[in-house]
Amino acid sequence: MTYKAVVIGGGPGGYVAAIRIAQLGGKVAVVEKDKLGGTCLNRGCIPTKSLIAAVDKLKTVEEAAEFGIEVGKPVIDFGKVQARKADVVEKLVGGINFLFKKNKVKLFNGTAKIKAPGVVEVENNGENQELHCENIVIATGSSPALIKSLGYNGTTVITSDEALQLTEVPKSMLIIGAGVIGCEFAHIYGSLGTEITMVEAAPSILALQDKDISRRMQTIFKKKKYSIKTNVTIKKIEEVESGIQAELENGDIINAEKALISIGRTLNIKNIGLEKLGVELGQRGQIVVNDKMQTNIKGIYAIGDVVMKYQLAHVASAQGIVVAENIMGKQSTMDYSAVPSCVFTSPEIASVGMTEQQVKDKGIPVTAGKFNFMANGKALSMGEGEGFVKVVTNSKTDVVLGVHIIGPHASDLIAEATLAVKNGLTAKNLAATIHAHPTLAEAIMEATENVHGISIHG
Ligand code: FAD
Repeated sequence: MTYKAVVIGGGPGGYVAAIRIAQLGGKVAVVEKDKLGGTCLNRGCIPTKSLIAAVDKLKTVEEAAEFGIEVGKPVIDFGKVQARKADVVEKLVGGINFLFKKNKVKLFNGTAKIKAPGVVEVENNGENQELHCENIVIATGSSPALIKSLGYNGTTVITSDEALQLTEVPKSMLIIGAGVIGCEFAHIYGSLGTEITMVEAAPSILALQDKDISRRMQTIFKKKKYSIKTNVTIKKIEEVESGIQAELENGDIINAEKALISIGRTLNIKNIGLEKLGVELGQRGQIVVNDKMQTNIKGIYAIGDVVMKYQLAHVASAQGIVVAENIMGKQSTMDYSAVPSCVFTSPEIASVGMTEQQVKDKGIPVTAGKFNFMANGKALSMGEGEGFVKVVTNSKTDVVLGVHIIGPHASDLIAEATLAVKNGLTAKNLAATIHAHPTLAEAIMEATENVHGISIHG
């Protein structure tokens, strides 16, 4: 049997591509060496958000008295927190298995290697089998990046994979790298009572965010008594009786029960046959693709983390749709003009489009409008007045080039902003759109009004 496509990897890139190929009438197989859902469902987006949902509940209980509801001191049963997380993951993984059956996507459990264009070898428990196909989609994703000097051992020096599986809340944790993953774990374990120290090589935490946002988050973390050390790297880490001892390049010593390495991701592209085929790799080791997700080898495509465009699940899935449509004879290209990204801290952060600095660097005249959640009726009613919406526009055309939110439900609010950036809407377009009251979304409307200095409430 010859498949229209064999997809290697069943993460949010691969499984979405496979289902769409099947929906469009193609015979498709997925090879997955672990569980369907990939990093996102099993070791990423979903388990972190499930733990975050638990600590958000804890916050609700801790703050209940402010709302006139007296409850006792909350007791954390971390075993139950973890069991609930596992249950959520299992349900979602089961959901993909169901979708595969429904759409007649054939699943092969095993490790795939490309033997030649159109030939994929699957190895499972020492047994090999060859699959033949017209097209191959590489969607093998990524794993936590490690540096030797950090001394990863999986017990005291861990990555996000192990941080999601801890059975007890550690007393203290050194978080190496204050990007999105580092900050989400600081939020999770910091909320559960772990003493948090963050070490970041860049001048600020969340260095890729708009400066106003990263500065505000840093202040919020400091208020929570997280120790944050920026502009510094780790020289070495040693195991000691109480956990680990880290020496920083500036001579500082940090002791903690656990050290979490969250310094980025390494691509799962070794030993899958790329070298022999001559698949072009970029400077960062990523698979080079065009906007149809084609590699330089005919019939071989790549999507998701391995192409290192944005290492986000929704981007992997969008690329999966594009690849499926191209394989099935449609003309489809990736458009990265409006990619939302979120940080699930408390409050949440979400952004789309350019930061104010990026607009300036491009020589575009910039105007920014801001609105504080403190002046938003819904946010105050919820007791969530911390944060703001910042809208960045082209001063000449009024077109919205970026929106940056730190505040309650920022990850949901960013959808409206994404639609605006994607469709080249102006601040006036958004400001002239009636937003329901009282809602958090009114903060977006008022921030766009403030681009012209005419917000009613602030
Ligand atoms: P993956 O999800 O990594 O899936 C690749 C799959 O390929 C894996 O299942 C793997 O087992 C399989 N595989 C690899 N090699 C082979 C082989 N040779 N043969 C067979 N199978 C193979 N993104 C968001 O958008 N939102 C979030 O909130 C978010 N939170 C995150 C939190 C954490 C802690 C982490 C680590 C990541 C998070 N991400 C988040 C990123 C997101 O998980 C990834 O961008 C996304 O999973 C990438 O999808 P993918 O399909 O490219 O690869």
